[in-house]
Amino acid sequence: MMTKRDPVSFMEEEYRALVERELDWKLRVLGGASQPRCNVDGRDVLMLCSNNYLNLSNHPKVKDAAITAIRSHGAGSGSVRPIAGNMDLHAELETRLAAFKRAEASLVYQTGFAANAGLIPQLADSGDLIVSDELNHGSIIDGVRLSKADRAVYKHCDHAHLEEVLANAEEHSPPYRRILLITDGVFSMDGDIAPLDHISGIAADHGAMVYVDDAHGEGVMGEGGRGIVSHFGLNRDDVHVEMGTFSKAFGVVGGHVSGSESLVKFALNKSRTWLLSGSHPPAVAAACIAAVDVLETEPQHVKNLWLNTDYFRRGIQNAGFDTGKSQTPIVPIMIGESAAAKVFSRRLYDLGVFALPIVHPMVSKDSARIRTIMNAALTREELDEAILAFEKVGSELKLV
Ligand SMILES: *Cc1c(COP(=O)(O)O)cnc(C)c1O
Repeated sequence: MMTKRDPVSFMEEEYRALVERELDWKLRVLGGASQPRCNVDGRDVLMLCSNNYLNLSNHPKVKDAAITAIRSHGAGSGSVRPIAGNMDLHAELETRLAAFKRAEASLVYQTGFAANAGLIPQLADSGDLIVSDELNHGSIIDGVRLSKADRAVYKHCDHAHLEEVLANAEEHSPPYRRILLITDGVFSMDGDIAPLDHISGIAADHGAMVYVDDAHGEGVMGEGGRGIVSHFGLNRDDVHVEMGTFSKAFGVVGGHVSGSESLVKFALNKSRTWLLSGSHPPAVAAACIAAVDVLETEPQHVKNLWLNTDYFRRGIQNAGFDTGKSQTPIVPIMIGESAAAKVFSRRLYDLGVFALPIVHPMVSKDSARIRTIMNAALTREELDEAILAFEKVGSELKLV
């Protein structure tokens, strides 16, 4: 007789395998708001690893907008956007975002992940080619997996290699119908910036469409936090799809794409994640409108973010640490071995600083790091306190 199959034991086994390799997520609990000084697992700490760059999640205008919208529009939207869930607030958000981005039009998705997973497979199908930076975000990778297009990967930010990949693609027989080039704007592990000026120039030479995921660039880079397209002074003929999220510097939640009217009409009629999943609750849409408003009217937040970034990075470097390739408020503090990075992070927490380690296999074996993300609302005293904690742990572990 065949041995009876246990249909569910794999879950426990695979989970245990992760625990053995110390690769399981141990969830921390925030007691209260995500803000520069917050409570993590019952301890008061300085928050150095949230994506809430500008602290807009706690901005009075953003919070009030959410509360007011619940009173006027209710707690939920009642449907997907194409059927009965398209509220005036959703439309207003798209108009406001497009104006902020200086694009013809914008479309809001439930999340950034939903934007990438929904739109990318519609932009390239069999007979097409998707060209992708090797360190692109997982949501891009999943979007690409949903497409039947061929794929080619170029070396991280290496525009000479990109040129080679595109030249090879020209030789393909039968010729590719379309080529879609996708890159992150700011890369979240190293805090480095895609050379979008070169990339878009090369793409134009080869007739490729350019799609940039600016999740970590908007609210941070460019004029008034308008993002990487603005940072490089590019326009809509250079970059055809500018994708982003409201879950990072905007301080709320939601994904979006900006570009031409035809992009938005195409995207809303084709993206399955957009068509088949409920729209944002009114509170979310209203809070996002308020966040756009704050970015347009209060330039001090982006300014403070960069002042804090420069101060913190210099302090960390003066303490003897290597901050890798960081050019943005994402500041990795390179440690080396994964085990050392884990101990480092635990000791920081004991000293009242919350910053998580990024270890193998997320990064290569010898480049484990503590990844920090700067915040506009941290004070000089708090930054000094954080730098001191890094110095202390660094000398304890004989790293500096
Ligand atoms: C965070 C992130 C996303 C996902 O955005 P969400 O709105 O949180 O789903 C997509 N791409 C990149 C590069 C990101 O960093």
